Amino acid sequence: MPKRHQEQAAERSRRRIEALRTELAEIDYVCSGTPLERMKTCGKPGCRCAQDPAARHGPYYDWGHMKAGKLVHRLVSPEQAGLLRRAIVNYRRLKKLLRSWEAATERLIDAEVDRQR
Ligand SMILES: [Zn+2]
Repeated sequence: MPKRHQEQAAERSRRRIEALRTELAEIDYVCSGTPLERMKTCGKPGCRCAQDPAARHGPYYDWGHMKAGKLVHRLVSPEQAGLLRRAIVNYRRLKKLLRSWEAATERLIDAEVDRQR
C-alpha cells in the first residue's frame, strides 16, 4: 500500500475507534441472560388457579443467566425485569461494539505498521 493510502486508512480506523468509544461510554446497565415471564399455581386447596390457567398468579419474572459457568435462576420484580431487559439489550450492543472495535484495531495495526516478510 502506498504511504498516503496507508495513512488515510489509519486515520479512518482511528476515527472509527473514537466513535465506538463514544458509543460505549453511553452504556450503563449490562446483563446477560433472559427474564422469562411466568404464571404460577399457588397450591392452596380450593384456589381457582389449580383448575383454570387464566386464574394463575403472576406474572413472575424468572431471570436466567450464567454465573461462573453455571446457569442461575432468580425471581425478580416487574420493575427489575424492566431494567434487566434494558441491560440485556445493552449487553448485545456491547458485544457488537467490541467486535467492531476489534476489526477496526486490526485494520489500524495493518495500516500503521508495515508487514515484515
Ligand atoms: Zn392460587
